[in-house]
Amino acid sequence: MKKYIQTALLCIILPVFVHGQNYIWPTNSSRYLSATFGEYRQGHFHSGIDIKTNYSVGYPVYAVADGYVSRLRTSPFGYGKAVYLQLNDGNTAVYGHLERFSDKMLPILRNEQKKLGRYSVDLSLQANDLPVSQGEIIAYTGDTGTLHPHLHFEIRDRQGKPFNPLLANLRIHDNTVPTIQRVALVPIGLKSRIEGLPVTGIFAASNIGPGRYVVEDTIRIQGPVGVEIQTYDTVKGLSNKYGLYRIRLAVDGLDTFLVQYDEFDFAQTALIDIEKDFQLMTEGAGRFERLWKQDAPQPVPFFRSGGSGVLKFNEGVHRVEIQAEDVNGNLSSLTFHLSAVVFAGGRARMAAQNDTALWVEIPRTESEEFSTFRFSWVDSFATVIRQAITQKIVQTKDSYRIQIAPSIESKAILKIVAGSPSRGVWCSPVFISPHKIPETVKPDVQVRFRHFPNTFLGEIKCATAPSGMIGFYIQKNDHLQPVKLIACSDRHWVTEPLPLSEWERVLVYEIRMGENATIIERESVDFHRLVPARSDGYFSDDSVLSASFGPEALYDTLLVWSKASRATPVKYPPVLSPVYSLNPQTQPLFRGAEIRFAFADSNRDIRKIGIYSPGREQYHFVGNLYVDSLRAFVARVKNLGDFCLVEDTEPPRITGTFPRNGGRYSAAKADHLRAGIEDTLSGIADDSAIQVTLDGETVIAEYHGVKDYIRYEIPGPLAPGRHSYSISVRDNAGNTTTTSHTFTIIE
Ligand SMILES: [Zn+2]
Repeated sequence: MKKYIQTALLCIILPVFVHGQNYIWPTNSSRYLSATFGEYRQGHFHSGIDIKTNYSVGYPVYAVADGYVSRLRTSPFGYGKAVYLQLNDGNTAVYGHLERFSDKMLPILRNEQKKLGRYSVDLSLQANDLPVSQGEIIAYTGDTGTLHPHLHFEIRDRQGKPFNPLLANLRIHDNTVPTIQRVALVPIGLKSRIEGLPVTGIFAASNIGPGRYVVEDTIRIQGPVGVEIQTYDTVKGLSNKYGLYRIRLAVDGLDTFLVQYDEFDFAQTALIDIEKDFQLMTEGAGRFERLWKQDAPQPVPFFRSGGSGVLKFNEGVHRVEIQAEDVNGNLSSLTFHLSAVVFAGGRARMAAQNDTALWVEIPRTESEEFSTFRFSWVDSFATVIRQAITQKIVQTKDSYRIQIAPSIESKAILKIVAGSPSRGVWCSPVFISPHKIPETVKPDVQVRFRHFPNTFLGEIKCATAPSGMIGFYIQKNDHLQPVKLIACSDRHWVTEPLPLSEWERVLVYEIRMGENATIIERESVDFHRLVPARSDGYFSDDSVLSASFGPEALYDTLLVWSKASRATPVKYPPVLSPVYSLNPQTQPLFRGAEIRFAFADSNRDIRKIGIYSPGREQYHFVGNLYVDSLRAFVARVKNLGDFCLVEDTEPPRITGTFPRNGGRYSAAKADHLRAGIEDTLSGIADDSAIQVTLDGETVIAEYHGVKDYIRYEIPGPLAPGRHSYSISVRDNAGNTTTTSHTFTIIE
């Protein structure tokens, strides 16, 4: 009998989602895509399809059906220049990143820009202002608001919700099946283990035939787990990797979870951070699609299942199948087996070693009697190099003694997994380093703390394998207590996961080593527990950095903590504060938080100072609103991060101006003004920070905020003679640069 329990089984009804049947393809550049609907973008879902334009601009863009222009937008960022068509069927078609609009739209746009005195406009139009008929050229493809030229095409329904345009009659040619790379298993509770460890396990998929993938070894798990998959779609002849249309999870033949990219509401777009595994992504493991639901204030729009998708097995081996499908119905499947077991502590140790053999001792107790031992040689990342050869097994009253042939690799580490398959009981892995480590060397330890669903744990990594046993202790009030460590390799451990409420009371942790329990590291910590739907605040130890969390700030309960360091990661501008590392940075927030950075140095020009986030190569501007009454800088952040105060006294740079100062041109050649606009620290807010004049008159130049330049098309040829222009640019810190140039138009 199957002892397979799920919180809720569901009926999966594959919805037939069809909207609009009479559209024409929106451009003649190509029928190839560079992105599909619902793909990951930082902080939001991709709301349309991206159509390739052969790395160039200027392809005509067509009205896909009859209707009228309902909105015209120009912006240095985002959609760039965009046209919204209200179609007669009630849907709205949106075209983004355009180079220019059709001639009949231009006067209306210019008028609005003149009225507002700036480049950025967002203009709503009525039905009889600009009617269009199917096939009419409404604009030309470009790269405004983006880096690489393409057409962003989007269709929204009557409620303004974007839906997958490839579900209309717009189709692409694709008969290539999706690629499946890896599967991840996430521990969901305190008792959850994946191959003995309380952390997410990642397993490679092997391709065994067209569209067929397997994970070769049965994966042993304990407690509830969530399944995630790393997969992408391709089209023959193109190098792009696309998002999928549908992913289904079935367990023992029962449909368990369904993700389907049909439609979403813009109000739900932030949920991308829990639809994908944010933690794996920010930790550098790549993008994994979640096939289980995390607790959240709102449902993820593409999750179509009634149940949570979380797998809970009591015992037995279970077959898991994941089907990944593109919108054309090309399908790949991954199958693997999960064996529900009980993990006991691994207590094997090295008994003796000489040149020809290594003796390992595994204790026998009444409750733990193991019939199976797996020995393998692994590297320092615990990746298996090869199976180890067992030469002899001796059973004594108290233990098993096992003789292992030495490894050929001098640095290999012996990994031991003992178990009793018939009882479903296994040891967490044990690692033994046969090579000698000098006992006097104090290991270089790194400690970090990690969230997993409903749990929290500490992680210790040493640069080299330490000579003695490592211990982890926590201090609440005034007594020190050990926390059990689980080995991930010979130099990497995680603590047993504990509830968040337990960690909240921890004041200090210690790392100790060896028989004498020598202290290697002792640090104070300040974990503060935040609960969703409740406003709360956090203060750093020195009260310099604080964060306030509104009722919608969180997805789930979180521990927040911080650490200040004097180290400046990027050697560049005057950094006026320590860098505060506000954690957790691998857990997403829902609506984000407000951070406050106390600062009260009256000798400094407050306008030049702001909150920045140090990146690998540069500081990212976060905000510079100074609130006098709080004596602090205040900024909203989507997620937590590293923050410091930086002073920006460097004005923007204006480069490569055209026409060149003192230049002589024909009127046909000098038909536009152009200049590069760069700023290193606080950046340029938008086009309102840029002023351009031509012959003394203010003109409205386009600002391309992603590619950092301005451009102004001169309407009509300039008269022969001398002309002048000036460009003035202000950064977010109020530093301004102005250049003036003269040039001559020759007859
Ligand atoms: Zn796009």
